[in-house]
Amino acid sequence: MNVLTAARPLDVVGDFPAIPDGWAYLDTAATAQKPRAVIDAITRGYDTSYATVHRGVYQRSADMTLAYEAARRRVARFIGAASPDECVFVRGATEGINLVAQSWAAQHLKPGDRILLSLLEHHSNIVPWQLVADRIGATIDVVPLTPDQSIDLDAMAAMLTPAHRLVALAHVSNVTGAILDARRAADLAHGVGAKLLLDGCQSVPRLPVDMAALDCDFYVFSGHKLYGPTGIGVLWGRAELLDAMPPWQGGGAMIDRVSFAGTSFAPPPGRFEAGTPHIVGALGLHAAIDYVDAIGLEAIHAHESALVEAARDALAGFNSVTLYGPADSAGIVSFSIEGVHPHDIGTILDEGKVAIRAGHHCAQPLMEALSIPATARASFGVYNGPRDIEALVTGIERVTRIFR
Ligand code: PMP
Repeated sequence: MNVLTAARPLDVVGDFPAIPDGWAYLDTAATAQKPRAVIDAITRGYDTSYATVHRGVYQRSADMTLAYEAARRRVARFIGAASPDECVFVRGATEGINLVAQSWAAQHLKPGDRILLSLLEHHSNIVPWQLVADRIGATIDVVPLTPDQSIDLDAMAAMLTPAHRLVALAHVSNVTGAILDARRAADLAHGVGAKLLLDGCQSVPRLPVDMAALDCDFYVFSGHKLYGPTGIGVLWGRAELLDAMPPWQGGGAMIDRVSFAGTSFAPPPGRFEAGTPHIVGALGLHAAIDYVDAIGLEAIHAHESALVEAARDALAGFNSVTLYGPADSAGIVSFSIEGVHPHDIGTILDEGKVAIRAGHHCAQPLMEALSIPATARASFGVYNGPRDIEALVTGIERVTRIFR
């Protein structure tokens, strides 16, 4: 536990009304708990200031439109986008990836083209590509992993060919916490003329991200993993790519002019936001970004790294425990215990008020490669501290006693 006392604790658990005293919430990689500031922003959004956006001629609607677009500007500043117009509000990372698959990929891929993914991808970064590849007659190749379950970029360098039009990779793995060298991945992809999409679901809440520095072409993330509401997320795309992409869903708000003779479309981001958007979700996301920015992503990363180190050190002390992922994982520790199904680990830990995730984590190809059906996963957030690691370790001691 020395590393923990050395790290400056964030001590913000009091900001989170849904975390009662004595409950170790270690499932932030699935979804983050919400700070009071976010809950208040959502309540205010539906309470005193609610109205639709973009269409109302009355003051309340004009004010809400300003707030909705202010949220977009806040997102842009947070991720270092060149312009708010590069930030499309979507339902979450899953919808963002489907949007790129159905719009950009469907427009640019032709039979025989190739898409490169990695073995550790979340199903959301596999299935949308399979759907479009099957339709077009494109092929998917899979980058293998290093022995510590990180994406093997040397192998990727050897695999890439000019037939690869798109590379889509997790910036941080939701199973192993492995952090991608995104800049190298971008250089490799661009070296053969491919575009790079990064799945930022697990990185945006854990690392400072900057679109210009990453040099990727598309980036997606979900608000609910960033301490914000469910049902809102962001697709960032380079302006010149979004400008040239066709809409993927039709409806109100995404048009320039509609007639039965032919319809013209709004410029991005409106072109990709058909229908009434998740207005209050955008306000909640704005508050969530303000919240994490006030703590600082550098501080959050240092805090979670200290928790990972302490958890891995403690778990390595059990002979029957196998740890997955690299030692410098970003806030996520996957493990298994010999002879114990991960679901049993999760159930016994829950009895001791420790909430972890047990399952395949929507990464079945990775589980298959590791020859296991599932792992137990502890993942950390700003509200966790040394007491949560102690509770986890006490729970694991109990599991090993019961199954001895
Ligand atoms: N990618 C990764 C790495 C994830 O962890 C998740 C959520 N578990 C997703 C994509 C999908 O996110 P959402 O369900 O919010 O769309």
